[in-house]
Amino acid sequence: MKNLELSALVNLQSIDSKIYKLNELINQIPEQVDEQNETLVVFDNKMKEVQEEVSIAEKAQKDFEGQIQMLNEKLKEARSKQAMVKTNNEYNALSNEIENDKKKIDLIEESLLEKLEILPDLQEKIRDVESELKVEGQKVSVKIEELNSKKKSYEEELNNLIEEKNNLSSTISKNWLNLYETLLEGKRSLAVSPIVERNCQGCKMSETLQRFFEIRDSEDSIFTCSHCGRILYYKETEIEETSISAQDEVQR
Ligand SMILES: [Zn+2]
Repeated sequence: MKNLELSALVNLQSIDSKIYKLNELINQIPEQVDEQNETLVVFDNKMKEVQEEVSIAEKAQKDFEGQIQMLNEKLKEARSKQAMVKTNNEYNALSNEIENDKKKIDLIEESLLEKLEILPDLQEKIRDVESELKVEGQKVSVKIEELNSKKKSYEEELNNLIEEKNNLSSTISKNWLNLYETLLEGKRSLAVSPIVERNCQGCKMSETLQRFFEIRDSEDSIFTCSHCGRILYYKETEIEETSISAQDEVQR
């Protein structure tokens, strides 16, 4: 390109496109970190579930033990009463009571044993979930570490590009630089666009043939698109980006 200032603007656009992409990548990182952490939530939930089962079983165990203790005290009382009763009827009534309470104790002991049998299984489940969580947690922290170091290298690249951008900006006149920055903000990060076969690649609208020739053959002036206002430069073939998206179309 003979026009040095236009050439600097084209290079500036290429740097800003890279900056734009890098910022997008950097902004995606926190979400990707969150996604990684979320994969562990399922283990936390599993753990809570098992712990809940354990506490239910432990509570039932305590309840049963309390009931058994109460009944045993009642039995003891009935037995000592029995030693002092005077009539057969009273004696028999107490015997019945004692038998009933014994049966109750047997039933409760059965239930208690059931609960006690569950507990080791639940403890084992907890250990399983813990070790799964440990393995997955390590995988996740490796991935998060990778994401953070990616972010760091993106940021380094970004800083280099910003420095490059500042150096290049100093070679461009204030007027063009101001227009460039305004366009960059307003035109979704594309301020400088190639014109290919009369079409501005920024807005896809075409210039008149006469104006197209002026743009193509100009050696010292800079033109802007008559439709979208972007700074234009002549390019013989389509820009890389459009050819990439054309390839994508074919693949779809
Ligand atoms: Zn345009």
